[in-house]
Amino acid sequence: MSNRTFTMIKPDATGKGNTGAILSMINAAGFRIVAMKMTKLSKEKAGEFYAVHAARPFYGELVEFMSSGPITAAILEKDNAVEDFRKLIGSTNPAEAAEGTIRKLYAASIGENAVHGSDSNENAKIEGDFFFSKLEQF
Ligand code: GDP
Repeated sequence: MSNRTFTMIKPDATGKGNTGAILSMINAAGFRIVAMKMTKLSKEKAGEFYAVHAARPFYGELVEFMSSGPITAAILEKDNAVEDFRKLIGSTNPAEAAEGTIRKLYAASIGENAVHGSDSNENAKIEGDFFFSKLEQF
């Protein structure tokens, strides 16, 4: 699984109509989409997805935000997918994100930051399996 990562286009980017532009950047960077769906997380499901952050002060805000509107979830394939995708999305805080990154272009704040990208191969697998059954992963 080391050539796969997991992403979500978050509710802020969905609401602003940036889904297509972001998917286009993902494709242009050489990632192949091997699973994809548009869906909306309940508070319970958002809380479960981000359970690792439960002790952080921003957890409540994060769960509210991630359940506030539709998202697009996808599994992406490319050599060195996890690391290369983190480079493509840029720093968590868009004010610190490099020029040309997805967050620099489309994120408004450290909380509403347009996209998610897995931080390890292990989490990529866990997160992909959270949204997609085996039959939905190509
Ligand atoms: P990521 O791996 O770059 O997404 O960053 P983290 O794993 O540190 O945080 C997960 C998500 O929590 C981020 O993408 C943000 O949406 C949110 N987040 C992180 N820090 C803050 C914060 O200080 N305030 C708020 N409201 N949300 C935050």
